[in-house]
Amino acid sequence: MKRIDFIRSVTLLTLIGRSMNLKALNRLSELPNTTRMPVLFIGHGSPMNALEENSFVSGIRQVGKELQKPKAILCISAHWETKGTYVTAMESPKTIHDFSGFPKELYDVQYPAAGSPDLAEETKRIVRKTEIGLDYSWGLDHGSWSVIKHLYPDADIPTIQLSIDYTKPAQYHFELAKELSSLREKGIFIVGSGNMVHNLGLVAWDKLSGEPFAYDWAIEANEKMKSDILNNDIQGLIDFRKRGKAFDLAIPTPEHFLPLIYSMALKNSKDETTLFNDQPIGGSLSMTSVKLS
Ligand code: ZN
Repeated sequence: MKRIDFIRSVTLLTLIGRSMNLKALNRLSELPNTTRMPVLFIGHGSPMNALEENSFVSGIRQVGKELQKPKAILCISAHWETKGTYVTAMESPKTIHDFSGFPKELYDVQYPAAGSPDLAEETKRIVRKTEIGLDYSWGLDHGSWSVIKHLYPDADIPTIQLSIDYTKPAQYHFELAKELSSLREKGIFIVGSGNMVHNLGLVAWDKLSGEPFAYDWAIEANEKMKSDILNNDIQGLIDFRKRGKAFDLAIPTPEHFLPLIYSMALKNSKDETTLFNDQPIGGSLSMTSVKLS
């Protein structure tokens, strides 16, 4: 064999071998079922929670300690709204600093978790509700990296995001999310990231620090949401626009609330529901978070 042919053959064999290995490693649909992974809804609050040491960050870390290592993470972040539904499908998602007016240290944060094109493909394959698009331009926005970095600080778990179709009602998101449930059995950790009560226009800026403070309507909405979560009344959450003034003030726009619908839709009858970081902040926000396991 001529040397050039030899090199070509070796290269070809290496490439075939590599792609077979990747296939063998990555074909999620062919993996045997594992222990069902928990699901979280995390109240992410200020992007500064990515850097600060506070009780919310401690709460997220504590939950992280109880988690087994997943094969990959699928995050539904309030900060990726699209027309149609997409999943990030690139090998290496960039860290997106989608905020303004914060200190330089926050813009310096990188969360270099790998992507998972295979999980993106698998998500597209199992969802029947809509045609899921593969996205190669987004990455990880602060809704995902500011909280996931406290769960997996080494950024060693492949992570993808699923976008929120802003043209669709909550019922639609609930039905779409239900179709993701088989991923839990394949070692995929699904995280919704938003805030149950989230009205930035009414934040009491002078009460952001010190004793936790909430307006009456924020307490009322948060307590009713918690009751629905603990009593498994997901329809009550889906019908949030029929719940009156407190809910309307708590959810002026739905993007921070909908990740909760995704997480709750994935509840299995054997799951226990626990709340953590159950605290208001700045009058019109709540950090209340949910673990299903
Ligand atoms: Zn946010």
